[in-house]
Order: sequence, then structure tokens, then C-alpha cells
Amino acid sequence: MGYDTDNIFAKILRGEAPAFKVCENDFALAFMDVMPQVDGHTLVIPKDGCEDLLDADPQILGETIQVVQTVAGAVKEAFEAPGVMIAQLNGSAAGQTVFHLHFHIMPRFSGLEFRMHARDMEDFDKLEKHAERIRACL
Ligand code: 5GP
Repeated sequence: MGYDTDNIFAKILRGEAPAFKVCENDFALAFMDVMPQVDGHTLVIPKDGCEDLLDADPQILGETIQVVQTVAGAVKEAFEAPGVMIAQLNGSAAGQTVFHLHFHIMPRFSGLEFRMHARDMEDFDKLEKHAERIRACL
């Protein structure tokens, strides 16, 4: 099976599905996870279509990880988090549910547990406010 151009992140990239955008450049897009495991949960994806880390073009990957680094700093500052976690899943056995490479950026606080992965849809006004907070720290 190859890369499915109808996956939800490909639709977001084509403007066919909505997203609360944080930033973008020629290579990558950052936007809020619609079912966040913690407030501030942000995703970074390459604009190039690839399923996961293992089939990504190394140059595109390099450009994408630079965006991850920048956005992680902004998320940490915006949510005054002592820590920030980067997660990236490859294959359904690893828990991947959307098959377009993405990096999760999640603020972390000791003692605060994550909500369930990809389960509860967040309020859209709240997501826009969170995106705004992160953009202000870029
Ligand atoms: P994975 O399980 O593949 O590592 O993560 C996929 C992530 O995409 C999940 O955290 C899930 O909440 C998020 N997600 C699924 N559908 C959508 C969507 O339509 N919009 C956004 N912004 N995030 C989504």
C-alpha cells in the first residue's frame, strides 16, 4: 500500500479540511491537534506526502525537524511548561492512526496525566486561542 493522498492531513494541506494553524514555511505546517492529549498539543507535518519517518526524504525531514524545534520552544513558552515532549509514531502497531508523517509536540507538567490519544474533540474556540498563544511566542 502506498501513501494515501486522501488522508486527513493531506486534505488539511490542500485546504480541503480546516485546521488551527500555528505556522508554516515551504516545507512544513504546524497546527493544533483537534483531539489534544494536553492543552497546547501541536502537530508538525511535512508538506511532502510520506507515510512516516522511515519513508521521508531526509532533506525534507531535516527541514521539518527545524520547524519542530522552533514550535516546541514556542509551545513551552506559551504554556509555561517545565518540559515538552515530542512523539512520533510509525505504523499502526506503534499506534499511528494518520498515515502522513507527523510530530506531536506536547507540553508536560509533572503530575499532570495525558488525556486519551485521539479520543475527545476539543472546543474549536479553545483551539484557536491556543494557536494564537503559540503564534505570539514565535
Ligand atoms: P497518530 O496516532 O497518527 O500518531 O496521531 C494522529 C493525531 O492526529 C492524533 O493525535 C489525532 O488526535 C489527530 N487528528 C486526527 N484527526 C485530526 C483532524 O482532523 N485534525 C487535526 N488537527 N488533528 C487530527
